[in-house]
Amino acid sequence: MNQVPPLDLTEEVKNQWEELNSAIQEVLRSGQFILGEHVESFEQKAAEHIGVNHAVGVNSGTDAIIIGLRSLGIEPGDEVIAPSFTFFATAEAISMVGAEPVFVDIEPRSFNLDPAKVEEAITRKTKAILPVHLFGCPAAMAQIWEIARENDLYVLEDCAQSFGAEYAGNCIGCWGENCPDDARGMMTGNMTGSLGQVGAFSFYPTKNLGAYGDGGLITTDDTEVAETARMLRKHGGENKYHNEVLGYNSRLDAIQAAILEVLLEKVPEFNQRRREIAQRYSDEIREINDIVTPQATEGHVFHQYTIRVLGDQRDELKESLQEDGISSKVFYPVPCHQLPVYEDQDHGQLPESEQASGQVLSLPIWPQMEEDTQRQVIESIKKYFN
Ligand SMILES: *Cc1c(COP(=O)(O)O)cnc(C)c1O
Repeated sequence: MNQVPPLDLTEEVKNQWEELNSAIQEVLRSGQFILGEHVESFEQKAAEHIGVNHAVGVNSGTDAIIIGLRSLGIEPGDEVIAPSFTFFATAEAISMVGAEPVFVDIEPRSFNLDPAKVEEAITRKTKAILPVHLFGCPAAMAQIWEIARENDLYVLEDCAQSFGAEYAGNCIGCWGENCPDDARGMMTGNMTGSLGQVGAFSFYPTKNLGAYGDGGLITTDDTEVAETARMLRKHGGENKYHNEVLGYNSRLDAIQAAILEVLLEKVPEFNQRRREIAQRYSDEIREINDIVTPQATEGHVFHQYTIRVLGDQRDELKESLQEDGISSKVFYPVPCHQLPVYEDQDHGQLPESEQASGQVLSLPIWPQMEEDTQRQVIESIKKYFN
């Protein structure tokens, strides 16, 4: 019996061995390891790929959100609306800026922020909406953008799980000829990361575009935001030793940038493979009554292939898979509003987020996953429900 991990990066490394090696060696020869030409070159290519004017490399996805929020002027006392059903870093970043995360429930099918519930969460203190494209599925950006525009709020996208995901709706789709001038140039592209004022990406190794260490990226069309982000990532000083504000030590390093530049070209192919694997899972397990397969939203890049297991069987199925050597994952067992760190705040009830936490199970998926390996997972699931 073969062990099936949640994902396996060794094939990716093996397949790109030569290219990765020469990219790393080039950095070694250059003698410049933090920021510099390799980082600039990657930033430029990433910006082009995503369809934005500026990309700013930082230390992690968490820092990309923190610095992104600060570059928009979010400060202590402000409120930022975010989904509760997400990785903790989304909420943590809002709190680290000194702002307050206001948790809103999700749409049960997409697991993403429910735009119908955003408006009632807006107060005088609300400054921004922070949708997450969870599991690689684009959030309902047209609706979110419309609410943001009506209420004069910023939109910062958490794109940590959605590199390469494309949003099916676009600027024309939102307002048509009524598209106001102040919205022009905002929802310009259709890639996640180009749909709000700021996009925040993570290059944690397991993400759809992953470095071989930590890394992150801030994307924006706004030159001022980009300049502020560039300043904040190096201690808040445009000129060394003349610091203007309190910033961070949060820079992308050159070896990671060189690796990312190699992998950037492969992402469309990797994401296509993820979609094919997702399709096969859905075709094979859709018939099982107690499983809800994920919505195959256009542009979804399946960072995770996440099913719902009905009837309190999730943990049992997970265990049964484990007995067959298959590792599945629960992203996320506790919604943010119920985490100990936020227990002092009253967030009300978010029934969809709570239910999702009890039902979700992410199955093994990675671009190089072999069909035989996937069959093993499918057979094990079928066996459990037989
Ligand atoms: C991974 C992730 C982050 C944080 O990224 P790091 O690079 O690990 O700091 C933030 N939000 C979401 C949704 C993530 O999946």
